[in-house]
Order: sequence, then structure tokens, then C-alpha cells
Amino acid sequence: MNSSLKIFVAGHRGMVGSAIVRRLQSAGYARVIVRSRQELDLLDQHAVAQFLADEKPDYIFVAAAKVGGIHANNTYRADFLFQNLMIESNLVHGAHLAGVQRMMFLGSSCIYPKLAPQPLQESSLLTGPLEPTNEPYAIAKIAGIKLCEAYNHQHGRQYISVMPTNLYGPNDNYDLNNSHVLPALIRKAHEAKQRGDRELVVWGSGTPLREFLYADDLADACVYLMEQGYDGPLLNIGTGVDLTIRELAETVARVVGFTGQLVFDASKPDGTPRKLMDVSRLRALGWVAKTPLEQGIALAFQDYLKRYAN
Ligand code: GDP
Repeated sequence: MNSSLKIFVAGHRGMVGSAIVRRLQSAGYARVIVRSRQELDLLDQHAVAQFLADEKPDYIFVAAAKVGGIHANNTYRADFLFQNLMIESNLVHGAHLAGVQRMMFLGSSCIYPKLAPQPLQESSLLTGPLEPTNEPYAIAKIAGIKLCEAYNHQHGRQYISVMPTNLYGPNDNYDLNNSHVLPALIRKAHEAKQRGDRELVVWGSGTPLREFLYADDLADACVYLMEQGYDGPLLNIGTGVDLTIRELAETVARVVGFTGQLVFDASKPDGTPRKLMDVSRLRALGWVAKTPLEQGIALAFQDYLKRYAN
């Protein structure tokens, strides 16, 4: 490891970016640079190009994105498409103009077709129609992957793309309407317990299958790949294990201490039926996830209590 590398983490206030910063700092990287939204608007092409030309980082992690759960993705469709296209275009093109050779672009498992064979292999990209609820976000992330590939092809850059599965952990978004399922259930179960409710409402049928990776494990994988000098194609990052939304809700209820009933609200969408990553390529590179789900949920719950309970 070369601890003198100058590393820009875009999106450091978010769950993923903050985990990458923690991981880099604990490994002794002393030149990690970050910018708040007030300091650098990633939607502003000129500002981003100027910043990268001035700083000339050795490595960039693109953890900045407009993200949200099934409701937010399905509602703010224009925002998800426009903002993500702009952020990644500005960073990839700006990095190239500044002579930045290496970058890691973070995508999402929703880039794969809705009915792709499970577990999802990297080779399923662009083989079929996407899940409609998050199609704008997925299209933007696919464009980001293709941007990286195109700059590598045309300009010899080493811009790699990694596709994390559903994530959770410190600094997650706990908004009841706009967050992902795991943080939403943590909050709902906690509030239901505090109010003494006998029921916890879970969206959809409870049957969709999802995989969950703790954010610090993702950060560990990202820094591992950077340190290995990984320079290959699209790479999935996940645990390789999934469970139903019902099982997830039961696990969250156990961690939080909610003892009432689960009620399923069929008026809410299920989304894609299953989203499990094939992580065999990542495993072959020597990385496996470390945090068991129940332990990770307990850590996330502690962070939630610290940040929101009062
Ligand atoms: P997705 O993985 O892109 O579909 O996004 P989400 O994490 O938002 O949703 C995953 C699954 O959990 C879907 O089937 C949702 O209907 C279900 N779900 C159950 N309860 C909730 C909830 O309170 N919030 C969210 N966002 N999803 C929920």
C-alpha cells in the first residue's frame, strides 16, 4: 500500500462514501480529500473539472449519487436519471481532462435485467428489460459503466466499475417514504415498539428476495480492489446470500425488540422478485464479506439510535 496516494472520495457524506473514508483513514491514507455539496456541486461541470484539474488526485471513488428506495426511485424519476447522469459524466470526463488515471465507479445491482438468471452474473448486463420502478436510476448507472469502459477503450484509462448489492449501515437514510427497506424497517420497528403498537406494516407481499451488505464491508472490498490494482471488467460486490423481505422484517424485529405482528401492505410494489449477486469473481480475487446480517443490523440500529432517537 502507498499511503501517500491522494484520494478523492466523491459523496463522502453518504453511507458508502463515509464508509470508504473511514476505511481509508484506518488504513493510514493521509491524503483523502472530500468536498461537501456547498463546496463543490457535482452537477456543475465546470466546477468539477476545475476542482479535479487543481487537485489532480491519484485515485477517485465515485460514491456520489442520487439514491433512494423503491418509492423514491419510482416517483422522482427525472431527478434520478438527470442527476446521476450529470454526476458521473462530470466526474469521469473531468477526471480524464485532469489526467487522473484510476477511478472506481460504484453502481448498483438494479442495473441487471428484471428477469436475469439468479444469482446475477456480470455478463447479464444489457441482456433484457429492467425493473420499471428503478429504470431511470439503472439507466444512469449503466451509462456510468459505459462511460468508464469508453474512456478506458479510447483513452487508456483505468476506470473500473463495481456493483454493490443492497447496502445498509452507518449514515443510512431513514426517511419512511424514500429510504430502502432495511433502514425503513429499523425505524418502523423501533417506533412501533416505542408506541406500543401491536402491528408493523411491511410493504408488498413479503416474498421478494433481497441480499444485504454492510456498508463497511463494501468499503473494505472497494479499498481491497484499489490496493490490488484491480483493472478488470464490471465486478459484483455482495454476500452471495439472500432472504425474503418477510424474513428480513422478522430479523429486524428481533434486533429492535418489537414483538408484535407483521402486516403486509399489498398496495405497495414488490419490485423485482429476486436480486442476488453472483460474487464468484470477487471471491476468486480473494475477498469475502465479514459482517453477518443480524450483527450488521444491530450495528445499524445503534447508529440509528445515536443519530435519531432523540
Ligand atoms: P428495491 O430493492 O430496489 O426493490 O428497493 P427497496 O429496498 O426500497 O425495497 C425492497 C423490497 O422491500 C420491496 O419489495 C419493498 O416493497 C419491500 N419493503 C417492505 N417494507 C418496506 C419499507 O418500509 N420501505 C421500503 N423502501 N421497502 C419496503
